[in-house]
Amino acid sequence: MASEKQAALAAAPSHPDAPTIFDKIINKEIPSNVVYEDDKVFAFRDINPQAPTHILIIPKVKDGLTGLSKAEERHFEILGRLLYTAKLIAKQEGLDDGFRVVINDGPKGCQSVYHIHVHLLGGRQMNWPAG
Ligand code: IMP
Repeated sequence: MASEKQAALAAAPSHPDAPTIFDKIINKEIPSNVVYEDDKVFAFRDINPQAPTHILIIPKVKDGLTGLSKAEERHFEILGRLLYTAKLIAKQEGLDDGFRVVINDGPKGCQSVYHIHVHLLGGRQMNWPAG
């Protein structure tokens, strides 16, 4: 947990359009386990899964949306698409008994990559409250 916090604190970008590792994943410069792709959204399995199913759903174009706290009215459509895609993928993955979506924001939210992403977690019983 301490290392997650350290990574989050170290990760804040110098500029909202600064590239992240997710740009390389979208551009297939580094490999990922892709589960869904369309013209606006890309989804792939998390490299450090926290549940049997752990998928990250991201916009192909960041458009300043480093995190949810940076959302503007122009992002309404992509924010809806990210959540709707989470639902489609949950169905595709057979998560019929439930799942969780998470958006970490900023250092206190333990965000480590500053390109907005929805975590889709499932395949085990979740606990509440989240840590
Ligand atoms: P955050 O902590 O909410 O910002 O989530 C970032 C996520 O990206 C973490 O769960 C990481 O495990 C994941 N991640 C970082 N690098 C990669 C990668 O190269 N492939 C897949 N997932 C990654």
